[in-house]
Amino acid sequence: MTDQTAEQLAATWVRPEIRAISAYHVPDPAGLIKLDAMENPYNWPEAIRADWLDALGEAQLNRYPHPEAPALKERLREVLEIPADAGLLLGNGSDELIQMLALTLGGPGRCILSVEPGFVMYRMIATFAGMDYRGVPLNAEGFSLELGPLLQAIEEQDPALIFLAYPNNPTGNLFSAADLERVMRAARGVVVVDEAYAPFTDETFLQRLGEFPNLLVLRTLSKMGFAGLRLGLLAGPQAWTREIDKTRLPYNINVLTQISTEFALRHKAVFDDQTAEIRRSRQDLLKALNAMDGILAYESQANFILFRTPAGQAPAIHAGLKEQGVLIKNLHGTHPLLADCLRVTVGAPEENRAFLAGLRASCG
Ligand SMILES: *Cc1c(COP(=O)(O)O)cnc(C)c1O
Repeated sequence: MTDQTAEQLAATWVRPEIRAISAYHVPDPAGLIKLDAMENPYNWPEAIRADWLDALGEAQLNRYPHPEAPALKERLREVLEIPADAGLLLGNGSDELIQMLALTLGGPGRCILSVEPGFVMYRMIATFAGMDYRGVPLNAEGFSLELGPLLQAIEEQDPALIFLAYPNNPTGNLFSAADLERVMRAARGVVVVDEAYAPFTDETFLQRLGEFPNLLVLRTLSKMGFAGLRLGLLAGPQAWTREIDKTRLPYNINVLTQISTEFALRHKAVFDDQTAEIRRSRQDLLKALNAMDGILAYESQANFILFRTPAGQAPAIHAGLKEQGVLIKNLHGTHPLLADCLRVTVGAPEENRAFLAGLRASCG
């Protein structure tokens, strides 16, 4: 029996790289208009909710869910137009699939490569899996890919995994498809095109699966309106998905998610209307932001807008908005290219109005 405290023991045993990071922080949104996490602002129409509750009544909570969720996969293939010969894996959110990719392709000396500013989970999961991480800076002007440095990093590191979000989070832009093709041709490892924001853009690589032996496409239902269900999917050549599937924990998609998602996809038209509405509101919001003195808002192909505030004011504006009851994301301090930047999720029209009013008051 040791006489050391739990603190001392943890300091001895917890991997140093885990001790060095802080847990993914989610602020408490209680009582605030929540425009920080790219959620869909619209809930389901009343009639659909009643039918959904009926469907849930069939759930057998005493039984494990179907381990492969074949009915749900079939519907996803149909609705998202996933090529018939592509392999398909489901995850508890796409974050879990990123983790499965790292567990499958990781190992000592192996590297995950991405671009920065980008989605923070790529770096965090590289750390969890004991992998190296390399982030190549985006172009400072419009956040496009810096192809020269990127290709050079691919040559130097020979990364096992490259993640590119398309459109990118937190910048909202789409990279050039031609640049992405160059990356796929240059890399020997897997290139994951992360299309978390697919509902808000017309561009996709999903129909191009198979054209490149190392292309995989990641999707999620979170941003289109089902963040609470936690369902992500990964599609690509079966030679890859077969192997990645081995790292999946049994029954990772719970029975409530399987039933609810199948149900929701039967009503896809409702959610397509919501998406179209969000896309329209995005353009209104962009215009309103750019009409404000001292604000520079960037074009977005996603359901959020990145904007730059006058130098040195981002933290105060973020705090001011919170006092006015609106929660957005402060990105100042997270990356040099995001100095003075804030990110707002496109909400319902009345939420966007409250945000703009709060912003005007906080910029004063
Ligand atoms: C939100 C987001 C995800 C994670 O989505 P979940 O399916 O909710 O885990 C993945 N990639 C990008 C780029 C995101 O912005």
